[in-house]
Amino acid sequence: MLTRRQVLRGAVSLAGSALAPSLIGCAAPGPRWSADPFSLGVASGDPRPDGFVLWTRLAPEPLSPDPATPGGMSGAAIPIAYEIASDPAMRSVVRRGTALAEPDFAWSVHVEVSGLAPGRPYWYRFAAGAAQSPVGRAMTAPAPGSPLERLRFGFVSCANYELGYFSAYRHLAAEEPELVIFLGDYIYEFTGRRPGVRGHSDGTAAHDLRTYRNRYAQYRTDADLQRLHATVPALMTWDDHEVQNDYAGEWSETFDHPAKFLQRRAAAYRAYYEHMPLRPSLSHPDGPSMRIYDRFTFGDLVEFSVLDGRQYRSREACYGPPDKGGGHQETVTGCPELLDPRRSFLGFAQERWLYDGLARSQARWNVIAQDQLMAELRERTGDGSIAYWTDDWNGYPEARKRLLTHLHEARVANPVVIGGDIHSFWANNLKLDFGDPRAPVVASEFVGSSVTSLGPPYETFVKWLPDNPHVHFFESRRRGYVSVELTAERMNVAMRVVSDVTDPKATVATLKSFVVENGRAGPIAA
Ligand code: FE
Ligand code: CA
Repeated sequence: MLTRRQVLRGAVSLAGSALAPSLIGCAAPGPRWSADPFSLGVASGDPRPDGFVLWTRLAPEPLSPDPATPGGMSGAAIPIAYEIASDPAMRSVVRRGTALAEPDFAWSVHVEVSGLAPGRPYWYRFAAGAAQSPVGRAMTAPAPGSPLERLRFGFVSCANYELGYFSAYRHLAAEEPELVIFLGDYIYEFTGRRPGVRGHSDGTAAHDLRTYRNRYAQYRTDADLQRLHATVPALMTWDDHEVQNDYAGEWSETFDHPAKFLQRRAAAYRAYYEHMPLRPSLSHPDGPSMRIYDRFTFGDLVEFSVLDGRQYRSREACYGPPDKGGGHQETVTGCPELLDPRRSFLGFAQERWLYDGLARSQARWNVIAQDQLMAELRERTGDGSIAYWTDDWNGYPEARKRLLTHLHEARVANPVVIGGDIHSFWANNLKLDFGDPRAPVVASEFVGSSVTSLGPPYETFVKWLPDNPHVHFFESRRRGYVSVELTAERMNVAMRVVSDVTDPKATVATLKSFVVENGRAGPIAA
């Protein structure tokens, strides 16, 4: 816990407006710092053909417990200088500018850069007063339709800070892919449920702006996560733990009145925005609403539809106090609501946006990046009946059928669904009718294991697999991430595992590799 004195020591002093020589070019009056204000690192995201978003947040005391001094900051908005160069040594600067770090957003900045050349890396850094950030790498996307030979990306999910070190992030950063896609559970809002290797600083479940801010800040003090963000541009979506376990739209898992839960959601979404490289023109938070679903096109090779699986979803099926909060098992006979076509996983506006975009896409590959397992998972219960988990796509089978039918009927090229949430690796066929062996395979699905979070019981899930022949591979005992290399002809998928999440120096290895061939849906073991 920080003392009051430490907070003050870390706080910014604008008094005197000393002429601190800016390290990135022009001498300018700036704040004097008694601790590094760039303690949370830098990030880039939102790659477009002519620009991207650059992010940082001033936080000389990142875990300041005082709500009046988030990150150890107080007082007025502060201009932050940035520069963008065409080389990693920052010698050929192509752009300089200033962004305003505002108290309302915890002194974070989101710089929307445009006017750059397509399809190339850039490097950037920030300065405030005499303090200078590390250098980060950003990229512009190749223009839509322009030839792109290959793209490498990784995807990650479910990084519980308390349960392990983020070696998966470090090893993915070392691979230097063009992109990393965060598929949710970037933080965990709860704390101390299991003995871990380190603790959340406040020892309390995040529930308001101060506690969500500090949760994100603590994750961002992690050196492996900082390195990943500084090295690799990010596409972002969330799952439940960015707000609360198993929430669905305005419905919390604990039956709060929706209006009350929406206040909490507003605080959580705002803190998320303050810490992510999201573009303000799309994602500026508006009370409990914040749009993060978006699409990204890379030349003629791939279009990513990055979805929001939480904000707009219908309430979970057969939900109700006292014993059915959040995810639970239901059979279709016991819970006919499961099959109600008025229920949606994405919300109908996002569904329309997705279907329109996929129908128009000219890309060779169409990756649907979202938070959860999409394949049907028939769970045989003790009495022999088949149940479904209500918190993932299995709780929204009609919405899944609409999406898969659209992929099939609109002849979307090479659709691949990627997801997280379930803390295990999966390679699946997505079929129009999972119960019919002759039904067409319309898409491929890969789910990545957690960065650190504990996997579901292996033996239990393995017993279910004979009822789920569309599942090619399942492994819940290992932690890691997924690395993908895309070319016009193939998608190469490597499931990467770390040796031990309790070892900060864990090594990495490939557990299993798959290929998807152009024009043929479904993973093939490599
Ligand atoms: Fe998780
Ligand atoms: Ca989750």
